[in-house]
Amino acid sequence: MESIGDVLKNKVTNLSKRKSEIISKVMKDAEVLQFLKNNQKQLTQEIIDRSYPQLLEFVSEKKKVEQSGYSSNKGFIPKLRLNETFIDVAFVPTEEYLRKNEIKAIKNRIHTVEMPANIKNYTFKDVDGTKERMEALKFCLDFCEGFEDHKKGAYFYGSYGVGKTYLLGALAGELAQKGINSYLAHFPSLVVELKASISNNSVNDKINLIKEAQVLMLDDIGGESLTQWVRDDILMVILDYRMRYQLPTFFTSNLNLEQLEEHFKGTNIEDERKAKRLLERVKSLSVFVRIGGANRRI
Ligand code: ADP
Ligand code: MG
Repeated sequence: MESIGDVLKNKVTNLSKRKSEIISKVMKDAEVLQFLKNNQKQLTQEIIDRSYPQLLEFVSEKKKVEQSGYSSNKGFIPKLRLNETFIDVAFVPTEEYLRKNEIKAIKNRIHTVEMPANIKNYTFKDVDGTKERMEALKFCLDFCEGFEDHKKGAYFYGSYGVGKTYLLGALAGELAQKGINSYLAHFPSLVVELKASISNNSVNDKINLIKEAQVLMLDDIGGESLTQWVRDDILMVILDYRMRYQLPTFFTSNLNLEQLEEHFKGTNIEDERKAKRLLERVKSLSVFVRIGGANRRI
């Protein structure tokens, strides 16, 4: 049977064996050696002795990155750092991680309601500047450039498939790059969503969010089934507020000015006055710009 003394001696031998294994492993690493060299003025043997666990962690994490592309903290890579009393491992974000986060932050500036899935990837670069689209495209470019000065948005109208929605998406993307938030909603779907929120009392909160948006974009206005509630309690409330506070507002529609007025009118006489007032809001908020060209959906 081993004596207590032997057991202890074995333990100590094993420990020092393990320690020398660690030392020889970490001292083979070029980055560790470079770090020790760069910091030799501040480093004492005592600090180095105390830091072997961290140096080992550094070497193992680097190996993980080499083998799988990731350290234990996904998106971060290990770096050695000198503290006052020991060497430590810091995890710093990779370029790729920072770039992805930046893209995510930009995309988060665009709030969408029922818009095409990839709308946040649309860019002006991809909008072909055909003659029929030029005026609208130029309006958007000028709007972005002079964002601080331009309070008026635009009402882009034209037939189905000419790229109206696409242009709004590209505009929202460009604004997001500049740190500007947009609320971009397919208006007919927004109406359905708002109707559904009546039952849980969240309709006012939603309307507040929409009316206060930094830039509001209502896509396909005129495509909704218009009721008095939609016209007077939703659209009028939102547009009235945005007009008062001069908040930029964009629309797209298949309807021209006259058709939009007809749409707002509905059928009875009392509605005619309200339709006119609402149309005045749209006109005061936006410049009417026609988009022509071929249907791009085919
Ligand atoms: P509208 O809103 O006028 O009905 P869309 O913006 O939905 O038209 O455009 C119709 C189709 O054409 C969509 O599938 C859209 O992705 C595509 N599209 C429109 N403009 C462009 C463009 N500049 N580059 C590539 N695809 C486009
Ligand atoms: Mg559209």
